[in-house]
Amino acid sequence: MTTFKLPELPYANNALEPVISSRTIEFHYGKHHQTYVNNLNNLIIGTSFENATLDELVTKAEGGMYNNAAQVWNHTFYWESLCPQHKTQPSGAILQAINEQFGSFDTFKEKFSAAAATLFGSGWAWLVKNGTKLEIIQESNAGNPMRKGFKPLLTIDVWEHAYYLDFQNRRPDYIKDFWTIVNWDMVNKRFV
Ligand code: MN
Repeated sequence: MTTFKLPELPYANNALEPVISSRTIEFHYGKHHQTYVNNLNNLIIGTSFENATLDELVTKAEGGMYNNAAQVWNHTFYWESLCPQHKTQPSGAILQAINEQFGSFDTFKEKFSAAAATLFGSGWAWLVKNGTKLEIIQESNAGNPMRKGFKPLLTIDVWEHAYYLDFQNRRPDYIKDFWTIVNWDMVNKRFV
């Protein structure tokens, strides 16, 4: 039987400050993410998904099993999407693709930010690869783009629990500061 574990955070709890405080990490990673892992481990018991991988669960499960599996996947990917290096611009293949498809990095940033800001309620904004094309999409709640056959390249969690301790209701400020902690090396690696 598969037992899922909370993956280690790829940096120290305070590494993303001042954008994401160690207090937010303590709750968002230590409590919310952990709870999705625990729920998933309980939900798969006695089902046909007992030995499934996380990717299989995300693409095939339904209901609560899907929601918790996708939230485990999404949060793990969100932490990987961030880094403390403060590179405000991508480079390499992803920058070229962004420029080709969106005209400029600034235009891309505006569109992705708008997708994150206008998502009603809880959910995620994503940069995905659809075949060879880049797309910006919104997903509500636990939505994961692999479900639609897309390859996730970058995500931002816009559930209130992601930013409330640091920004309260100011989601646009969280989104603005998000750009200073994006892990573009990870995005480039997934893109090629
Ligand atoms: Mn979250």
